[in-house]
Amino acid sequence: MADNIHRKKFMDGKETPQETHRRVVYAGRKCPCGLPPASRAITFAPFKEIWTREPERVSWLIQQNNGQIPIVELNTNGTPEKFIRLGEVFACDICKPALEKAMAGLPSWVLVDWDEGPDPRNKVQIVGAGV
Ligand SMILES: [Zn+2]
Repeated sequence: MADNIHRKKFMDGKETPQETHRRVVYAGRKCPCGLPPASRAITFAPFKEIWTREPERVSWLIQQNNGQIPIVELNTNGTPEKFIRLGEVFACDICKPALEKAMAGLPSWVLVDWDEGPDPRNKVQIVGAGV
């Protein structure tokens, strides 16, 4: 007689991990086309770099952020460095290739934090589900 294997599904099978990520992390956000987003890109530039190259953009960002500079400290090469947060963009599954192309066309010194949730090729396993 074969043993029954009881496997608890993620969210009891009501949603995939990708759907949960989109619902929770991208809550209330939309792709510019109006569809729910499937990915998000946040762009950063080293403060020194953008201050030297595009000081007018820094002024614009200060205006957009109620007089504050959106600075974060990131560690991309072993030494923490001040980066300015340029923007955040969302894209649906249809618009994603266009956003990827746009991000690839940014100057090499712009850092893109790309997020599209958990990799659907990874299996989600819930351990301790009363096997
Ligand atoms: Zn779209």
